[in-house]
Amino acid sequence: MSISAIEKLFTVFNETAQILQEELSITYLDALAETGENLFQDTVLQEELSEITVKRLEKSYKQIYLEKYNNEEIRKAYQLAILKGMKENVQPNHQMTPDAVGMLFAYLVNKFIKAPSFKILDPAVGSGNLLTTVLNLQPNKTIHATGIDIDDLLIRLAFVNANLQSHPIQFFNQDSLQPLFIDPQDAVICDLPVGYYPDDVRAAEYEIKAKSGHSYAHHLFIEQSTRYLKPGGYMFLLIPNGLFESDQASQLHDFIKKHLFVQGVLQLPLSMFKNKNSAKSIFILQKKGEDLKPPKKALLADLPALTNSAALNNIFRKIETWINENK
Ligand code: SAM
Repeated sequence: MSISAIEKLFTVFNETAQILQEELSITYLDALAETGENLFQDTVLQEELSEITVKRLEKSYKQIYLEKYNNEEIRKAYQLAILKGMKENVQPNHQMTPDAVGMLFAYLVNKFIKAPSFKILDPAVGSGNLLTTVLNLQPNKTIHATGIDIDDLLIRLAFVNANLQSHPIQFFNQDSLQPLFIDPQDAVICDLPVGYYPDDVRAAEYEIKAKSGHSYAHHLFIEQSTRYLKPGGYMFLLIPNGLFESDQASQLHDFIKKHLFVQGVLQLPLSMFKNKNSAKSIFILQKKGEDLKPPKKALLADLPALTNSAALNNIFRKIETWINENK
């Protein structure tokens, strides 16, 4: 992967998004989705633009040939542009999953799922950054991926992101806690949206619902993901460290005990987060099924700073030994 290639691509995304933002009076992120679609379709799709603007855009697009870039270069350049747009418009629960977390998810999916072909779902796909990071790092596998998000701008960005990287992902723009129109999955990955779910009527259909008041969306996401997993399927979740310390934790405990085997908890280094309260872990679960047994011992580890490659390699060795003994 080349830094200069990423910079060059970012410059084109950024310049052309700025032109569209100004000419169409839209936000930078809307303009980024528009320009990504133009690049993918290899034409300027916005009919209301002046001839001069179309020429300016075409001149910029001509500087790059998408086919020359690999998926990770495209993903990173697009990610930089999204991060720039998100700075304009900060929404804490819509943040993109950081690369370091994406890489760890990709590593874990690769180690846990050995089948040459499988189905994977991200029910809070956002910009598609996490899902495409995972897909990019599963060489020689046929993967049927689905992404769902309630936010229409983010799902547009995800759709364009997937097109630019030639990933045939199926997208749905809906509330993931409503019924889903998808087949049972082999794996679910999710950077859980944390907070209350406002729809108490829908929440009432969940085993994990709050005894009174609003239920936690992140708890309901765990139950919903379990429903759509095949027996034996795996769930990889980014969770807040305080997941089991809340007032609704007992319902969550009971649900997990009944339906899932805890495979492991990998605590991310505190240095990745603003403070202790915002720190997160990767929670790995398996849906129970006939003839399946829980691991002898769950995989528990505190991950070192991701810049500490010696310590990180030690942890990867520990994970691999655990997988060899348990899988
Ligand atoms: N992994 C994503 C990425 O790489 O861009 C970021 C996920 S972000 C932390 C959480 C996402 O959950 C947001 O995109 C938000 O729109 C979505 N979300 C929140 N509540 C939802 C719901 N009920 N159904 C579907 N998506 C929801």
